[in-house]
Formats: sequence, structure tokens, C-alpha cells
Amino acid sequence: MVKKITLTFDNGPTPGVTDKVLDILARRSLDATFMVVGQNLFDPSAAALLDDVAAAGHWIGNHSLTHTVAFGERRDAEYVEHEIGETQRLLGCHAHSRRFFRPFGNNGLLGPHLLCEAALTYLLRNRYTSVLWNSVPHDWDDQATWVERCLADVARQNWTVAVLHDIANASLARLPELLDRLVDAGVEFTQEFPEEVILTRDGEPVSLWDTLVAERNLPAAN
Ligand SMILES: [Zn+2]
Repeated sequence: MVKKITLTFDNGPTPGVTDKVLDILARRSLDATFMVVGQNLFDPSAAALLDDVAAAGHWIGNHSLTHTVAFGERRDAEYVEHEIGETQRLLGCHAHSRRFFRPFGNNGLLGPHLLCEAALTYLLRNRYTSVLWNSVPHDWDDQATWVERCLADVARQNWTVAVLHDIANASLARLPELLDRLVDAGVEFTQEFPEEVILTRDGEPVSLWDTLVAERNLPAAN
């Protein structure tokens, strides 16, 4: 069976980085999804890059406004609305019509810190396609081994959704090497997401595990 990979770039756009990532992808005719941190767009040069990301055919998703406190650790509805809603407004017409959202994961960990009931209600009510991941190779803090880690993730599962970062000192330096090695290995690139990383879509839960929601993980009362 042919292995598949979906490339995602989180936490940008970053002038001097995202533009180079776009060049690397364009040279190989690859499409990705960029999960944008809303407050980056207060910088006009970063906001201008978003036009280039969209024009190149990449998908643009919402990765929270401030990327600081995960929803499981701050559970009020106002915070949720501010973090998601404000970012969606900043993305404007560049936001994909499927309303992609990825929660801030605190080093890419999967657990009850990711969501709270208020966030879940918001995502369902506003019909976001919330997407997680199944590969976090640590491009931002392990230059020596992140490419090998990503390739190992691709080898051990049928469809890898890799979280890379278009920020300084992350995926950029070794991205060409990763892509060339994936091509050499016969891996198929796709822009789609497998069902198992989609938490919500069209107002319905898809692969939503209770283990990802803070309130559903409280110790049972005696
Ligand atoms: Zn992030």
C-alpha cells in the first residue's frame, strides 16, 4: 500500500521563512495547509505573505490568535471566541471555506489540555473542520533528527499528517531534504486529511475522543 503524507505548516506566516517554504513547495508542485496564528497578521509583511500562500493554492486554517494557553487550561467561552473568532476575522477571505482549525497543542501533545466543552461547542456551532495530527517531528527544537523522525512516522502508518513550522529555525533548512527523501520513498503527497485526525466537521463530531476534552477527564467523584 502506498504511504501518504499531508504537509501542514503551523505558527506562521513568518517573513523570510514562509516565502522560502512556498518556493520549496512550488518547485516540487506540492500543496500544503498553513495553520496561521492570528496575531502574526498584525505585521503587514506577514499579512502580505498570506496572499502569496493563498495564491499558490495552499489551504489556510486557523491556529488561534495568541497560541499561548490551550483551551483545556482556560475554559471560558469569551477566551474561546476571542482566540478562534478573531483569527477567523483576520484570515478573512483567505480562510478555507471548510473553516480549518487546529488547536494550540503545547509541543504537539495530544491530551485533555487541547479542548474544553466551550471550545468544542464553539467549533461545532460555527462548523469548523478541526484537525489534529499524527506526526510531530519537532522541527523547531531538534534540527539533527526531525527529518528522520518524520520519515519514521511515515513508515509506521498509512497516512501521516505532519506538523511542521514556518517559523525561524524550524523546518526550512532541511525541508528540501525531507521532501526529496519522501519522493524517493514513493510516498504520495495529498492536501486532504484522514478522518482519524478530524475532530469536528459540518457541526458534527467525527473522530472526537473524550480524552481530548478537559472536562471529560476529571477524576470520577466519590
Ligand atoms: Zn502551533
